[in-house]
Amino acid sequence: MKRFCIRWVDRPRFVCDVHLAKVAKYLRLLGFDTIYRNDMRDDELIGWCRFGRIGITCDRRLQNRLPDAIVVLACEEAEKQVRRLSAMFDLPKFAHPFHRSLCCNRVMVPCEKRDCLRTIPKETYRWLEAFWKCPKCGKVYWQGTHAGRMRQKIVQLLGVSEKVLKIRR
Ligand SMILES: [Zn+2]
Repeated sequence: MKRFCIRWVDRPRFVCDVHLAKVAKYLRLLGFDTIYRNDMRDDELIGWCRFGRIGITCDRRLQNRLPDAIVVLACEEAEKQVRRLSAMFDLPKFAHPFHRSLCCNRVMVPCEKRDCLRTIPKETYRWLEAFWKCPKCGKVYWQGTHAGRMRQKIVQLLGVSEKVLKIRR
């Protein structure tokens, strides 16, 4: 794996290669702007890196083409790959979980409860007050009974303890 030498003062933005769907999803879950498409060509990925994104790949050939902006990860579980990125780019400092749509990378916007009536299960509607909507795909997100598990996952991905991390509730 490549050691990264650039200091990132802003929240890093990423672009993942076609093999890293799960890594991309996890990075979005952590709140990071992450471009991913399962048909993205190498040239396109490199193009995004020229616009200030960090390219993530498992393909060593790519590293030679734009060495400073591409991180080559070992082929291992996506969780481990994200933990490595977390250490490399100090992700706990910049993380903003539950902030982005997992499917299309857009920042979610708060959604009026009454507008979600038809989208969410009745039970959930009864006891929760806060909902967010993806402005692109229209998917509604909320922190229901699965939220505890998700928080656990986030903590694992970042490789920190929950105390260190302020997670929006
Ligand atoms: Zn979406």
